[in-house]
Amino acid sequence: MKSEHINHTFLDSVLSGEQVDSYYHLGITSDDPLIEKMLELRAVIMGGSGNRINEFAQSWSAEHEDAEIIRFPKEDRFVIRYTAGVLFVSHGMGMPSASIAVQEIMRLVYFIHRGSLDRISEVFWARVGTSGGVGVPAGTIVVTSEALMPDLKPYRVFDGGKGTTWFESSFPVETAEAILKANGEEEIPMTVGKTVATNEFFLEQFRLDGAIVLADLDRKMEWLTWLSENNVRNIEMEGAMFAGYLNYWGFRSFAMVCTTMLNRLEGDQVTATASQLQAYNERSGTVIFNYLRTII
Ligand code: URA
Repeated sequence: MKSEHINHTFLDSVLSGEQVDSYYHLGITSDDPLIEKMLELRAVIMGGSGNRINEFAQSWSAEHEDAEIIRFPKEDRFVIRYTAGVLFVSHGMGMPSASIAVQEIMRLVYFIHRGSLDRISEVFWARVGTSGGVGVPAGTIVVTSEALMPDLKPYRVFDGGKGTTWFESSFPVETAEAILKANGEEEIPMTVGKTVATNEFFLEQFRLDGAIVLADLDRKMEWLTWLSENNVRNIEMEGAMFAGYLNYWGFRSFAMVCTTMLNRLEGDQVTATASQLQAYNERSGTVIFNYLRTII
């Protein structure tokens, strides 16, 4: 871990009992008795939708002798469940929403593991999501090697102190390889490649079917072709921040596994049927569970 990047001033004052941390958007505080039930935390699995999180937790519990599922009481922002060593967390849509979930869960992980950098660094993180494919057919699973913004530069924020701070965009190669290996027996189309994360579903993904349109067909195809030539395989809305924040603290093992709902080189609208979309979605869950079984 990169201890110098961790906000010890605040987090250690919570550990020492000087103050109670309110994980406001998660709906719990650091003196909540629920925390004592999560001391075996080994992995954090995040996804956009609350329903999906619920299903993940139920499946993981069923695989672990119906381990107790701990439900976080507040659900109006994020749905959170803990069972059998895994925290399942929904993060909503887009980096502004997901960054809140990631920061508060990082604080919680630090508190649960009592600030032990060894134990914290062993926690595996994944985002399991949906995306638009770039030159790959709908239903392909993309394991991200690097997540960048639409200009193919890393995630950055304007922060009052220093101006613009840039974050690292890479995902650990060994984890991506281990995920592929864990799924060697599955007949699921999978590829490793770069991901672009945008702050807007329509304009920043150069769609022509929004209420507002800024690009034209030539500009859209020029951008998508440029992405494809730079080994981008999919487009979503959270990965660059996710990689940036986890790299900032120096987590060793994290991944993003997204299914593609369409091939953006062929269009903008998601036209797959509900049952096709469900099947595509299930693939990303299968892929991450196969990997989780190898580490927990
Ligand atoms: N999610 C996105 O961000 N873009 C898509 O095209 C599909 C899912």
